[in-house]
Amino acid sequence: MKGNDIISLFDKYVMPTYGRQPLVFVRGKGARVWDADGKEYLDFGGGIAVNVLGHAAMTEVLAKQSSILVHCSNLYYTEPQGLLAKRLVELVGIAGKCFFCNSGGEANEALYKLARKFGNGRYEILTFTGSFHGRTLAGISATGQEKVKKGFEPMVDGFRHVPFNDLDAVAKAVGPKTAAILVEPIQGESGILPAKPEFLRGLRRLCDERRLLLMFDEVQCGIGRTGNFCGFKSIASDVQPDAISWAKGLAGGFPIGAIWVRAPYADLLGPGTHASTFGGTPLACAVALTVLDTIEREHLVENAKRIGDYFVGRLLELAKKSGAIKEVRGFGLMIGVEFTMEAKSVISKLADGGLLGIAAGMHVVRFLPPLNITRAEVDEAMGKLERALESL
Ligand code: PLP
Repeated sequence: MKGNDIISLFDKYVMPTYGRQPLVFVRGKGARVWDADGKEYLDFGGGIAVNVLGHAAMTEVLAKQSSILVHCSNLYYTEPQGLLAKRLVELVGIAGKCFFCNSGGEANEALYKLARKFGNGRYEILTFTGSFHGRTLAGISATGQEKVKKGFEPMVDGFRHVPFNDLDAVAKAVGPKTAAILVEPIQGESGILPAKPEFLRGLRRLCDERRLLLMFDEVQCGIGRTGNFCGFKSIASDVQPDAISWAKGLAGGFPIGAIWVRAPYADLLGPGTHASTFGGTPLACAVALTVLDTIEREHLVENAKRIGDYFVGRLLELAKKSGAIKEVRGFGLMIGVEFTMEAKSVISKLADGGLLGIAAGMHVVRFLPPLNITRAEVDEAMGKLERALESL
């Protein structure tokens, strides 16, 4: 089908919940995708931090596991789910257990329920201004941005937003009903905004003093993207959370979500308290295990740090020359470039030149390429970015 015909199908039959760019993609390989007219793009959006190994990278495991066992109810045991849970606990490096679901929003739902079970009557969760926790009803209630809530009131009870990186404000906000604090160690959707190390350490102290769970939403900043498997370790490696949520990159583009819960609380959600029909299928878990194997075998966490540092260095050089760039914020391959003009116009110019980036807020363009991106691909992307800025 031609690109315009596909867009017409969407106009007629797909609900208009997304502001889509007029680009129709038909295939991908590694860090590249091709549109319906055969034009090639360097994909530095990575499906919003999902395609950690690039495109068409899990073919073998998908084919193999799909010929063995695709789905099996959680009423039974399967090897891939057990092995994946073990692997994730080892990667966090703190004793605990995992629960599996299908997306980031759903992983956070498990955290909200964990907090309420832990709170035993205390039900309030503090989250932060600018945060993003997903589009479920509780997700938009947890999210510290008004724009996602508009038109969907009333919100789910029990979420309160506190200024990000303001420890005094958090201490004051804790009340008799507070059970937990949920924070993105690096806020993604609002423009790659990191928590300060002292803020994360202060949250840990506060949670210990006031008997609260400290929960990290690592849906975007986890799975090696920041140059550490856990995003929080790129901010303050000494801080121990009580729970973490993941999704996006965990199976490199195959849908999966998960939470890890620290040992003392890992059995709080007992039989009958939480479930997901598709959560942790043998297929999803086998793909995730292969993704994690590949990340380890090819040293991709180290690559994210090394190439990320190189990319940020090049962006900072460009920022010195170009009045269009206000700030560059980077943690491994989770990079935000704040422009003086609207991100939307930069993104559309970049796409014209064959480079994909993702807007975050009004002025920030995020680059979230595969973790196996090369220096040569970064150089190519920089050339495209420089040319786009010249023509803007
Ligand atoms: N939490 C964070 C930090 C995210 O960035 C996102 C998605 O962008 C979500 C949660 C929601 O994940 P999903 O879209 O898989 O439900």
